[in-house]
Amino acid sequence: MCKHVLNAQVAIRSPCCRKWFDCAACHAESETHELQKAIEMVFACKKCKKCFRKDAAEFDEADEFCPHCDNHFVIEAIEPQMKLEVEGEDVRKDSRMLRDERLRSKSMEREIDEILMDKAG
Ligand SMILES: [Zn+2]
Ligand SMILES: [Zn+2]
Ligand SMILES: [Zn+2]
Repeated sequence: MCKHVLNAQVAIRSPCCRKWFDCAACHAESETHELQKAIEMVFACKKCKKCFRKDAAEFDEADEFCPHCDNHFVIEAIEPQMKLEVEGEDVRKDSRMLRDERLRSKSMEREIDEILMDKAG
């Protein structure tokens, strides 16, 4: 599975090295050459596992669907959200800080109590 586009619906065969890739970033990671752009692209639908060709020069709305199973493969890519994970960590850090603060103020209260008791005694 591709780690760049989590909802990839098709694999694309690169015209340069004739291998299957989920996205251009996958090609860039495993190959040292530039991804060649071709007018006619070969796709493999991930839903029905069948291959089909599309002419990129004459691409219209009907071409956004797999000709075999009507799977809509031209969709907005869902990319991994790194930012959300960092935010979650921050929340945990904040709550830990708050708890420390409460503990500290409690021990301070106890110290003040002891000082007052000393004076009284
Ligand atoms: Zn290539
Ligand atoms: Zn990828
Ligand atoms: Zn299909």
